[in-house]
Amino acid sequence: MSRKIPFFAELVTLLVLIAIPFILPPLGFTPATINRIMIFGLVGIGFDLLFGYTGLLSFGQSAFFGTGGMFAAYLLTQTSFTNVVLAIILGTIVAAVAGYLVGLVALRRTGIYFAMITVAIAEVFFFMEFNPLSEYTGGENGLPGVPSASLGLGFTTIQFKTDLEQYAFFAFWLFVGLVIALRIVRSPFGLVMRAIRENPDRATALGHNIHSYKLVVFIVAAMYAGFGGGLLAVMQGFMPPDAFMFATSGEIVMQTAIGGAGTLFGPILGAATWLLLSDFFQTVLNLGATWKLILGIVFVLLVVFLRRGLAGAFVDLYRLAFGTKKTTSAPAAAVHNTAAATAGALRHKSTRNKSGHIIEAKGLTKHYGGIAANSDIDFAVNYGEIRGIIGPNGAGKSTFFKMLTCEVQPTSGTIKFDGRDITHMNVTDACQIGLTKSYQINQLFERLTVRQNLMISALAELRGTFKLDLLKSLDRVRGLGAQVESTAALVHLTHRLNAPVADLAYGEKRRLEVGLALATSPSLLLLDEPLAGMSAEERVETVALLKSIAQDRTLVVIDHDMDSLFELVERVTVLQEGRILVEGTPDEIKNNAQVQEAYLGGVHGDAE
Ligand code: ATP
Repeated sequence: MSRKIPFFAELVTLLVLIAIPFILPPLGFTPATINRIMIFGLVGIGFDLLFGYTGLLSFGQSAFFGTGGMFAAYLLTQTSFTNVVLAIILGTIVAAVAGYLVGLVALRRTGIYFAMITVAIAEVFFFMEFNPLSEYTGGENGLPGVPSASLGLGFTTIQFKTDLEQYAFFAFWLFVGLVIALRIVRSPFGLVMRAIRENPDRATALGHNIHSYKLVVFIVAAMYAGFGGGLLAVMQGFMPPDAFMFATSGEIVMQTAIGGAGTLFGPILGAATWLLLSDFFQTVLNLGATWKLILGIVFVLLVVFLRRGLAGAFVDLYRLAFGTKKTTSAPAAAVHNTAAATAGALRHKSTRNKSGHIIEAKGLTKHYGGIAANSDIDFAVNYGEIRGIIGPNGAGKSTFFKMLTCEVQPTSGTIKFDGRDITHMNVTDACQIGLTKSYQINQLFERLTVRQNLMISALAELRGTFKLDLLKSLDRVRGLGAQVESTAALVHLTHRLNAPVADLAYGEKRRLEVGLALATSPSLLLLDEPLAGMSAEERVETVALLKSIAQDRTLVVIDHDMDSLFELVERVTVLQEGRILVEGTPDEIKNNAQVQEAYLGGVHGDAE
């Protein structure tokens, strides 16, 4: 239902925000608590973009919350500056600059190391506020005398004096923050954020400069925090130094976890639950110091039993009440017909009229410590050729592919692709110029749908390594729909476009793995064991699929299933112990005594 009504989420939020001042105060909640929910909800939305959508757990939000708030408070109390909203915006810009500088450092690491750096940075900001900068920040006293909410329009200033007016001021900014965040998550930029959360390595390999995306999201989250800090100063009439405390960061993380990360509404629900409960325990139940203990237990219970948070629980309840639509399977014949009809439409970087070598490696060597995974490989593939690579386990095939696609740097040797030296290129740029691979072990975006997976791939091709289209709708990316549909048709997944990847059968996942590589429109596609783990029936189908992909493309395919591979390829390169043993047509390889002795004797005999 929500998909059919435009701006459904925004409308519901607006109605709830309008209802809040009539519902919560009669239940005993103070205006201060309600306004704090608005402020922490806003900060939490920014944090959710970072954590819930991009997968970056930061404990550094207090640094930006404090910085933005303190800068605005300083302007409003220590200078002749009187425009409250402009001061908050300037504080937000300072928080953005701080976010940029911190992000440059912290994002050099991932996972727990990233989180630990943000903890350390939050502590540094706290120290700075209390010591070297106390002359400006008021040290442990904070900055008192911040004027109350007002909106300077130049010709007049609107004052927000009564409880209701003040609430309207804070609720308005929460609403604006939510609308912007919803646009971000519905944008191409927002989809790349989710790709980074799900599988950063694959997002990189598909041609996205994930570092830039992460840095921008980090700055955006810092801006939400900075704006929230300014609002806090205005709401309380003074800027408290404890905004900088690590506990503030912890509360933001906990509120988001309670409410449900990756939902945008979760942090608002989380802030409401957290603040209402702490208010209730302290003022209504008069629990004294024990309120923190009780709140801690409630937090643990909520996180343990509602794994997707309150927002997730509400969605589950909604589905239970109104039922959910299941993804329907189109009949197989229809699927194949669609494939036939649209497969030819899939774009790719054309090399149709070129001749000679599309890729050429000379003396390619890779050492891992004492292990020589590849040694002195000379290898070339012609435009339009379909090449097979075989070799026993550990022969160095995957390492060879990783070097060709610039995923790992060779120890020595050179690689030329389409006439240019790509030896020291990175995997993102290699993909952008038309060279990519599908993986031996599926590297998909598991929690997203097939359509979203293919979109992520196509977006890199259509938008380049990085684009700041935070507010653009995904629907408005020209050519995206066609690229996704034609790729899905080619890999026979049209009927599964709306299914989450986690629901796919193994064979479907394998086809999607190839589809992800295809959607980047490569002129040279490397396929690392595309038939691995498939049943006999699935292999026949996939070989047919690979044949249709191969038309007008250059392919290099690694596989252990030699019967299928020999049916597909024109020439075969045999690797053994990291070196090329021999090269030739499938017939020559089958009949080569050296190959039979070294490799085929056992395996091919078994296959036969
Ligand atoms: P398979 O058919 O089993 O996939 P393969 O032919 O693809 O094998 P590679 O995965 O390229 O072989 O491995 C070649 C050799 O390099 C192996 O001895 C492997 O242990 C080693 N190797 C590969 N990657 C690494 C790494 N990251 N660090 C250390 N050694 C590695």
